[in-house]
Amino acid sequence: MIYLDNAATTFPKPRKVVEEVKRCIERYCGNPGRGAHPLAMAAAEKIYACRELLCDLVGAPAPERVIFTQNTTYALNFAIKGSFCDGDHVLYSELEHNAVRRPILALCAAHRITADTFPVVGLTEAELLAELERRITPKTRGIVCTHASNVCSITLPLAAIGRLCQRKGLLFLVDAAQSAGRLPLHMREMHVDALALPGHKGLYGIQGCGALVLGERLLPKPLLEGGSGVDSIPAQMPELPPERYEAGTLATPAIVGLAEGIRSLHNGQMQAVAKHEAELFCALRERLSSLPDVVTYQPQAVGSVLLFNKKQVPAAELGRRLARDGICVRAGLHCAPTAHQALGTPQDGAVRIGLGRYNTKAHLDALWRALRK
Ligand code: PLP
Repeated sequence: MIYLDNAATTFPKPRKVVEEVKRCIERYCGNPGRGAHPLAMAAAEKIYACRELLCDLVGAPAPERVIFTQNTTYALNFAIKGSFCDGDHVLYSELEHNAVRRPILALCAAHRITADTFPVVGLTEAELLAELERRITPKTRGIVCTHASNVCSITLPLAAIGRLCQRKGLLFLVDAAQSAGRLPLHMREMHVDALALPGHKGLYGIQGCGALVLGERLLPKPLLEGGSGVDSIPAQMPELPPERYEAGTLATPAIVGLAEGIRSLHNGQMQAVAKHEAELFCALRERLSSLPDVVTYQPQAVGSVLLFNKKQVPAAELGRRLARDGICVRAGLHCAPTAHQALGTPQDGAVRIGLGRYNTKAHLDALWRALRK
């Protein structure tokens, strides 16, 4: 089996991640924050260590501002629905995943906010900023965008958009689902107010946890109420993060696995993985360009995701045929229909190759042979 679907979830996971998840389940998986006995305390300490690692990784103001969620989608829902108020206007990019687009459109459908998209594909940074600025109205309260697209390797200039938000007094909410663990992130330097990320993609944790990381000035309304392990008497959730947002038991095994995943990217490994993926991207692009019936989309943007189609073969059919050859890819619209529109793929989308640290050139050769066949 050749796994080329690392944009959906990375696979396999580093050995240390798997070992720590197993150790947690076998040796110390008490309920963190729910008791002072050794197993609850051990779990709580490990979780705090993961908050510290994430805080360092993304340049957040404090570990307490790292809120564990089920996944990126939960984190984005908390950020979007908890931060905007009735009458606000919001801008979001044409590349957004449904995890951004749908919560915004749900608020619009409920007549709570209004929203507009801004273009990205084919624009220089200066053009993109001009397009953004043109759409800002007196009611605009924030910009929400992805750092890196999940359908191609286009990235958005976070630092420049953050500066614009700062200058205009806007909130800046970022979806780092594809960039966490792959691209440098610094919330304070980039003026990011909330950053949503998954544990199971570029950070090489397992499925079951993500995080919403809050900047200094944002405390969204909590969207869930329940047990927080502290301050049990009041009717409301605690005032401060992380307990304010973490209702119910956390996914301790996934969180300790995530901590190991982040450690596996220390000591220059994150840059090394990004370099490896970029080299594979260029090698793949070269192989695909030798096939006359293959069309690629935005191949000049180098990263870990390459989108293509084979003329006369519907994307879903191509995905199925590759699966039969033992090659795992993702075909279709990848939960980002407007991104596909902007890239000009057919209605049924395209085939996505998501590269990861364990892929090799031999995997690309196998893909090339299967496509030629
Ligand atoms: N945003 C982007 C850009 C994504 O690629 C994904 C998942 O693929 C998500 C959000 C949602 O992530 P999750 O499935 O962890 O909620």
